[in-house]
Amino acid sequence: MMTHIGLLASIALNVILLGFVVFSARKNRLKKQRQKKPAFKTPANLRTISCPSCAQHIKFTLPIDGNKARCRKCYAQFKLDIDEHRNVYITEIKLPEDEQSIKSLADCYLILGLNADAIPMDIKAAYKKKISEYHPDRVGVLGIKIQQIAEEETRQINAAYAMLQEHGMV
Ligand SMILES: [Zn+2]
Repeated sequence: MMTHIGLLASIALNVILLGFVVFSARKNRLKKQRQKKPAFKTPANLRTISCPSCAQHIKFTLPIDGNKARCRKCYAQFKLDIDEHRNVYITEIKLPEDEQSIKSLADCYLILGLNADAIPMDIKAAYKKKISEYHPDRVGVLGIKIQQIAEEETRQINAAYAMLQEHGMV
């Protein structure tokens, strides 16, 4: 009888010890994971502002490089101010121009990823490649924000190609 109790007690003790070992290993692992995360990725540094021009949500992490931000949808540019409570305010807005970014042939080559000495065959090939990269068949599964960016890219690629055609470059 006494041996049974002794055996049971010894098993119980082993189970408790094992549980403790597993628990501390897990605790140490979690602690290590927490330490690995760089400080700037903590939610406390995440900020979201609404674009005053198109209401697109713009997310960023503090600190902000040069206190400047840009809307990915409408390309409006902002200057930001961060107060002592780390709240973010928009202090200056530069609204996007109508025919935004494409002003010269150099812009067209840049958008298509070409050198200025590209021949018509290169331009056509670059255009087809770029357009296919942002095609709805490819980005359709990637969520509405990515699709909006792809639409804007497509618009720019088409505008760049059209301008090159107008100037007889292709
Ligand atoms: Zn915007």
